[in-house]
Parts: sequence; structure tokens; C-alpha cells
Amino acid sequence: MIYLDYQATTPLAPEAREEMLRWLDGPDGPGFANPHSSHRPGRAAAAAVEVAREQVASLLPPGGRVIFTGSATEAINLAIIGSGAKRLAVSAVEHAAVLDTARQVQRGPWVLPVGSDGVVDPAEPIPPATQLVAVMQVNNEIGTIQPVEALASAARSVGALFLCDAVQGAGKLEAPAGADMIALSAHKLYGPKGIGALWVRDGIALAPLIHGGGQEQGLRSGTLSPALCAGFGKAAEIAASRMEADAVHVETLWQAARARLARWTLNGSERQRWHGNLNLRLNGLDVARLMSDLRDIAFSAGSACASGSGRPSHVLTALGLGSDQAKSSVRLGFGRYTRQKDIEGACARIDAAAAAQGV
Ligand code: PLP
Repeated sequence: MIYLDYQATTPLAPEAREEMLRWLDGPDGPGFANPHSSHRPGRAAAAAVEVAREQVASLLPPGGRVIFTGSATEAINLAIIGSGAKRLAVSAVEHAAVLDTARQVQRGPWVLPVGSDGVVDPAEPIPPATQLVAVMQVNNEIGTIQPVEALASAARSVGALFLCDAVQGAGKLEAPAGADMIALSAHKLYGPKGIGALWVRDGIALAPLIHGGGQEQGLRSGTLSPALCAGFGKAAEIAASRMEADAVHVETLWQAARARLARWTLNGSERQRWHGNLNLRLNGLDVARLMSDLRDIAFSAGSACASGSGRPSHVLTALGLGSDQAKSSVRLGFGRYTRQKDIEGACARIDAAAAAQGV
């Protein structure tokens, strides 16, 4: 199996797995203790959680705190609903975690459009009464990198908070500057599934969504999993130390893939993009047939979240693509553990399978 779906989830880094195992030990090992207990094993588990918090914070700007959550989706819900903002502006290409939460709060949030390159123009007007603006750092479907610093200052100029969904950028790019809140997910940066984080700038007050024991500074009650925290922390530490090496490797893979799929059209900007995301289209391509012909290559039709729904992706249609063009698109995602020979082989087979369809 060749895995080319790194935007859906990344493999667990072996170092993160190793770190997690220490906190899963039981019944004789100390690692299973509740980190909120005051006895010695509890304090050891709590210390591991705090180490992890620092490691995750190392990917984020100074001057804020890290709240662990069960996922980035939960972090985004906490940011949007917990801020109390009722008038929102979101980009047209946000993940459903932002779009659906914004629609829960406000029937028709203001939408910042993207150009045909998939990038929001920071000069786009934001209504003066807006209280919260949400724009992602890197798009999950097409990899475009948004000008978040300029958008954060545009939000500030109307007195709005700025939330950045950095799920696809964290550990790959420098942290988005100027944001008030930043959402992360461990499983997109080679950590475990089931844990995310919200970074909150100092001085910003949020109301909790989950009530109970008052963990996570009262913002997210519930017993933390030291194993998940430790795996997240280790993955963050490694991502920070390998950021450049990972980017160099991804660039080599990108060049190799682009060369083999030269006749395909790239969706979204080539330059303002994370190059571990290759979203391409070939007019007339039957993507379902392609996927069934190539069952030993794991890749995605459009977004992993939307695939299977039959609806064209809202991101691809926001670029101005027609429904047929959106439906003839595939997303290849690769990263740290992808081998060059695997991507070359997979791209050659994808191209040949498309050619066999007569496209
Ligand atoms: N935001 C983006 C850009 C994503 O790609 C995803 C996951 O696909 C999420 C949010 C949700 O992350 P999680 O799986 O941690 O809830």
C-alpha cells in the first residue's frame, strides 16, 4: 500500500509512539495514573502533560496558553462559541469544523471569497461590526497558504478577534503571526488521533463548552490522557526540529510527482502553497473508477471529509471550478515518510490508469 493521504491524517512518528507507551503502562507500571490525582504517579503523569504542553507551545507564538482538547474540531468550537462572538467572517475555503460551527452561531456568517488561486485577498472588506474572523493557515484540500498575518491585522482594524485553523500548517510552517487563537490537531503532524489544542493569546477570555471538574484552566473539563498528550508533545518537538528537513524532502517529492503528472492541471496556487498537497484535475476523469482501479494506492477524491458525499467540494467550487471539473480532481498528500520511489511509481500508475479511461 502506498499512502498518499497525508492531509487526512499522517502516520504516527515512531518517537511519538515510543513516548506514548510509557504512559499506557498498567497495572504495575506508574504510567496509567490520573494526571489530576495528587499522589506520586498522578504527579508524574501531570508532569508529562506539562512537558507536552511546552513542546506544543514551541510551535506557537509566545504570549499565550495551550488548552488541550479532544480534536481540532473541538478546539475550533471552543474558540468560536466560547468567544461569545455573534457576528463572524470566515473564508470560503474553511474546513467544515469552522464553517458549520460559524453557521451554528450565525445564520449567514460573512464569507471572504478566494481568487481562482484559492487565496483570500487581505484587502477584502470585513463588515465593521464583525467580532470574530476565521481564516485557515493552509487549506486541507488544495494546500494554499493564506496571508494570515495581513488578515489578522485586517480583523484587528475592525475590532474583531482572529482565529486561525493551523491544522494543516502546524509543524510545517512558522506559526501564524497576529492570531488571537490558533487550533491544532496532533494527528496531522505525526502525532496520535484523539487530541488537539487551542492556543489562546493572553488576556482573551473564553467560556467553556464542557463543564465538570474544571481541568484545563476551567476551559475543558475531563480527565486528560497523558499518553495522548505525550505523543502530541513529542510529535510537536520533532516537527519543530525537522521543519526544514521535512520541507526539503517534500519539495523533492513534489518535483518528482509534478514531472510525472505534467499533463494534469493544478488546482490552486502553485507558489503560495504547501507542496505536500498536490490537488490536480484531468477533465473527464472518472475519479471513482480511478480509485477502484488503484486500490493499493491510498489517495483522496477532493477532501477526505467530503468524499463519498457526491457533492462537489466547496473549496474547488470557490475557486470557480465547475462541478465536473471539481469531480474530476484528486488529492495526493505526502510527507516525511513518503519515499521518492513510491510517489514516482504511484504517479506513473495514476497517469496510466487515467489514460486507460481515454482522458
Ligand atoms: N481543520 C482542518 C484544516 C483539517 O484538515 C481538519 C481535519 O481534517 C480539521 C480542522 C479537524 O481536525 P480534527 O480531526 O482534529 O478534528
